Amino acid sequence: RVRVRFAPSPTGALHIGGVRTALYNYLFAKQHGGDMVLRIEDTDSHRFVPGAEAYIIEALEWLGIHFDEGVSYGGKYAPYRQSERKDLYRKYVDRLLEAGKAYIAFDTPEELEAKRKEIPNFQYDASTRLQMRNSLTLGDEETKRLIGEGEQYVVRIKIEPGEDILVNDLIRGEVVINSTILDDKVLYKSADNLPTYHLANIVDDHLMEITHVIRGEEWLPSAPLHVLLYRSLGWEDTMPRFAHLPLLLKPDGNGKLSKRDGDRLGFPVFPLEWKDPKTGDISSGYRESGYLPEAVVNFLALLGWNPGNDQEIMSMDELVKLFSLDRCSRSGAKFDYEKGKWFNHKYIQLKSNEELADLFIPELKAKGIDTDREKVVKVVAVMKSRINFVKELWDQSYFFFVAPTSYDEKTVKKRWKEDSALLLTELTGILNEIEDFENAETAEIIVKEWIENKGYHLGNIMNAFRLALVGESKGPQMFDITSILGKEETLKRLSKAIE
Ligand code: GLU
Repeated sequence: RVRVRFAPSPTGALHIGGVRTALYNYLFAKQHGGDMVLRIEDTDSHRFVPGAEAYIIEALEWLGIHFDEGVSYGGKYAPYRQSERKDLYRKYVDRLLEAGKAYIAFDTPEELEAKRKEIPNFQYDASTRLQMRNSLTLGDEETKRLIGEGEQYVVRIKIEPGEDILVNDLIRGEVVINSTILDDKVLYKSADNLPTYHLANIVDDHLMEITHVIRGEEWLPSAPLHVLLYRSLGWEDTMPRFAHLPLLLKPDGNGKLSKRDGDRLGFPVFPLEWKDPKTGDISSGYRESGYLPEAVVNFLALLGWNPGNDQEIMSMDELVKLFSLDRCSRSGAKFDYEKGKWFNHKYIQLKSNEELADLFIPELKAKGIDTDREKVVKVVAVMKSRINFVKELWDQSYFFFVAPTSYDEKTVKKRWKEDSALLLTELTGILNEIEDFENAETAEIIVKEWIENKGYHLGNIMNAFRLALVGESKGPQMFDITSILGKEETLKRLSKAIE
């Protein structure tokens, strides 16, 4: 059975790249009828940010990415928060120590700093470890004595140099890394009795029976270390398959899209708005910016994957069917924000007028406009092709709900002619006679016939007519406007403009 996990560290708002990682895991799990697990990797207490965990869950739920198991979902491998699994890691640390695959190191931060100054590009590994203060140089007895005296230590993996380590990646194929370039990473710290990311991640993936590790490319350099850990713990046979996803790049392709890019480049890089609990700074989110969750999902799905044809609009269900790791690209995906807007536009067109009205009505209420739903549905129907976001509706359609109280000066200068008042008075008479007023087509035919018969100038009349109803020179088709405003309101606005 396929089992995947999304394993964020609660260090702040979830970056949009992290959302894509969660999405790909979800698509892969659902396609294979497997399980999707949410594990919170919070063993680094210095980087813990309150509220981050709740944020991650809320954001993914908003997007329709649901978990089968995990923090806040429960499950038979609980607990899923690493800080609550603290006691279970020590046994594996001891196993590595006993097998000589790891060792204890006492070097203080000052000592490490001094070494770094002494040796350029210092790395704690086979070439340097014998110059350091650790169980390999001090011997068992001295090591025991120091621990007995309460000296703090870390446990480091002992990497044997000169070995080619093979990482079999489902996207990148076989990646070979020579162990000489790896350092003896810290696996455990006595100061808080907690494992570091690397050890906790491997132990938990093993215990939770994870079959596929799908994560960002930034973890590829750690993958050989992880392979060595599986091997050292005797778990190589059940080691998960790896898939490292391409990076998300800035829109110009110049470097990785970072958390700080967001509002600097003029678009959100977080799913939901986020208020930094330390600084109070607010970063914008896709939800608050007016994105539909389906549009965000579709947009993200195509950043690093494609269905093999030019189909672009795909629902979550379709994505589940079509997704495949084979079609994930190896090179970074440019974050094309304009395309994100385009997706939102498309998804707005797919919504029914009723659904869109329900999204628009609260905003109208907030502006103090209490109008019947039927009218809002009609407005949405004629306006939706012009918007990328529901929140643009107000700017584009307020005149349906409030009559102009003044007329745009420039438009008046250009469009209101000497005879406009007279012509609109005559038009008022014509409109008044139309019985089936709310049928835009009928109204249009009748008015145009009148104009033609009299030999009037169509453009001049329509411009003045629009100015009278809208207050400026914008809006949809004239007869869509009259049809929605109705006869009474149309005539009222005309008579006010004529004054
Ligand atoms: N906790 C890691 C992160 O924050 C998880 C990396 C992984 O999936 O192995 O991204």
